[in-house]
Amino acid sequence: MDNCLFCRIAKKEIPAKIVYEDEKFLAFEDIRPQAPVHILIIPKLHFASLNEAPEGSEGLLGEALVRAREIARSKGIGASGYRVVLNTARDSGQEVLHIHFHLLGGRRMSWPPG
Ligand code: AMP
Ligand code: ZN
Repeated sequence: MDNCLFCRIAKKEIPAKIVYEDEKFLAFEDIRPQAPVHILIIPKLHFASLNEAPEGSEGLLGEALVRAREIARSKGIGASGYRVVLNTARDSGQEVLHIHFHLLGGRRMSWPPG
């Protein structure tokens, strides 16, 4: 996807502070962090949101959560706690139409979300 911001980050056409990469996933720091740790985890495969997740992507979606857990641990927030957020479509506030998991931690968070 030529015009997708996160595809362009994955292709290193746009700089980002990358914290993890493998053949399927990229994780990088959110440009407007909402917590001391705020990392976005994306599959390199482009799809807009959970609603557009292709058939057979269950494994990929599950792996994203495992990557989130590992990155949380590596950032030292595994035990203190963290939140993984998957905004989907309009009412969630999703802005970037390439599926991404927010990993947030390093501070106490409130519930319910705004
Ligand atoms: P969402 O509202 O779930 O679509 O979240 C999109 C996130 O992408 C926001 O938290 C933005 O701060 C973040 N973001 C937008 N542009 C960039 C960028 N160039 N590098 C890193 N994060 C970005
Ligand atoms: Zn994309």
